[in-house]
Amino acid sequence: MEDEIKEYPKFKQSMVKTHTILIPSMLDIHMSLWEAVLKQSGYKCEVMRNQGPEVVEEGLKYVHNDTCYPALLVIGQFIDNLNHRDDTHNVVLLITQTGGGCRASNYLHLLRKALIKAGYGYIPVVSLNASNLEKDSGFKPTLKDILKIVAAMTYGDELMYLYNKCRSYEVNKGDATRLKDEWVNKIIKQFEVGKGTKLGQMKKNMRQMALDFNNLNLDLSHKKPKVGIVGEIYIKYASLGNNHLEDFLVSQDAEVMVPGVYGFALYSVWNYIYDREIYGRSLKSALIAKFLLHFFQKREKIMINSMRETKFTPMNYFDHTKDLSEGVLHHGTKMGEGWLLTAEMMELIEEGYENIICAQPFGCLPNHICGKGVMKKIKSIHKDANIVAIDYDPSATKVNQENRIKLMLAIARERIKDDDKVEL
Ligand code: SF4
Repeated sequence: MEDEIKEYPKFKQSMVKTHTILIPSMLDIHMSLWEAVLKQSGYKCEVMRNQGPEVVEEGLKYVHNDTCYPALLVIGQFIDNLNHRDDTHNVVLLITQTGGGCRASNYLHLLRKALIKAGYGYIPVVSLNASNLEKDSGFKPTLKDILKIVAAMTYGDELMYLYNKCRSYEVNKGDATRLKDEWVNKIIKQFEVGKGTKLGQMKKNMRQMALDFNNLNLDLSHKKPKVGIVGEIYIKYASLGNNHLEDFLVSQDAEVMVPGVYGFALYSVWNYIYDREIYGRSLKSALIAKFLLHFFQKREKIMINSMRETKFTPMNYFDHTKDLSEGVLHHGTKMGEGWLLTAEMMELIEEGYENIICAQPFGCLPNHICGKGVMKKIKSIHKDANIVAIDYDPSATKVNQENRIKLMLAIARERIKDDDKVEL
């Protein structure tokens, strides 16, 4: 390839103390916890919070316009952030990659090419992935860091779940946000003194978290439309990507549900085991995956059990969610969000979130197959499914997206009966 980059700046161990690691924004709660974990380990880091049309403009300037929209946004956010910094010689960019067959595995090279074009070719880029895509990086989280990162993901998922259950029904505006922030700070403080990662401590924290949200003053007198959000992982979670979709739905008096990151983590791990079964792939990878699956599922169980003493219906076990896609989409379909996207739609409907927004980024073939492609089949199984696919791309207008969502909400409202009870 004539434009292949053979040499690129590396993030060396000696840079840990001098360079700030810039991280693209995505999940607010999880990111705040992960940012704190890295800082506690001696890294200087910053989750980028720059948004606005300049981000898209920068993305369009330096990335080909048929690139997946999430890549365009992430690269645009980096370059826009760099354009506004006084010192760009002491920064490192960090991106996460799944390492699968999807185009996300090429984001790293797209970003490096864009940096060269924008005049920032001297900035090192670090790829955070579980597939050994980059072996020469100075970013080497310790086992202690990894345990904290996983614990942060577990707490993040539980907080996101409880927060979304409560925020549309709170009597005193801001109560749910305040409680969520309090818990984020509490967990960060525990991590600081080496606590919060052992199973017993997690059990205690998560039970208390659920009880605290259970005690919030909520007005449960009227049922609201319950809306689930699925789609490509970045567009689903990043407010920059989905034009603040969760906030918009709450402003429209709807209850929102966004499936947690655990589903994606378990899906990615489980696929290695299934690959061995159907393609005869590496036994070693399958055995490591089995160990990881067990490791994650222990924590998943804590999360689910923590809601036992509350009014909240807990999230489902991954094994149950996985089985829901059977008969709709084969488990061998695993590019991007693959069969998980289908399974999450089925799960949401089963949990009463029959109104679903499928957030589709421009240029994303896997999501068109596993999202849009299965809608007809899902609707044939669940007649009440009210699913709408919303496209996110540089030219899509927010007004157009919101109008389509309002139409979906109007159908949802028509279906609510006066004597319907709120079930959280
Ligand atoms: S899942 Fe879709 S948007 Fe994400 S990298 Fe793959 S093709 Fe691109």
